[in-house]
Amino acid sequence: MTASALDETQLANLKDALLRKRGEILAASTGTRPLPASIDVNSRQGDLADQAAGNNEVHIQLKLKQTDAKILQAIEEALYRMEKGVYGICRDCGEPIASARLEAIPWTRVCIACKQKQNA
Ligand SMILES: [Zn+2]
Repeated sequence: MTASALDETQLANLKDALLRKRGEILAASTGTRPLPASIDVNSRQGDLADQAAGNNEVHIQLKLKQTDAKILQAIEEALYRMEKGVYGICRDCGEPIASARLEAIPWTRVCIACKQKQNA
C-alpha cells in the first residue's frame, strides 16, 4: 500500500518548502507596510491614463491577496495530509501526483491531468 511515490527525504524537503512558503505569506500579510498613498494624487487629477494605472495596481494587489489566502489554505491542507500519510495523492482521481509537480507546487491538491480537466 505505498501509493505515494515520495520517499522520506522528498517528503521532508516538501514539508520544508510548505512551511517556508507559509512563513512568507504570513509575513507579507501581517507586515505593516504602509500603502503608497497620497503620492501626487491632487496634482494628477484629470490625468486619465495615470488614474487607470492606479486602479489597475489596486486591483492586482487585491488579487494577489486572494491568491495568497488560497495558497495558505492549500498549504494547511497539504501539511494535514502529510500528518495523515496521504500527501501526494490526487484529491480527484486518487492517483499519486508526480514528484516533479509536487516539487514545483508542494501545496497542489490534484495531479496534472485533473488540473488540466479543471481548466478545460
Ligand atoms: Zn488526478
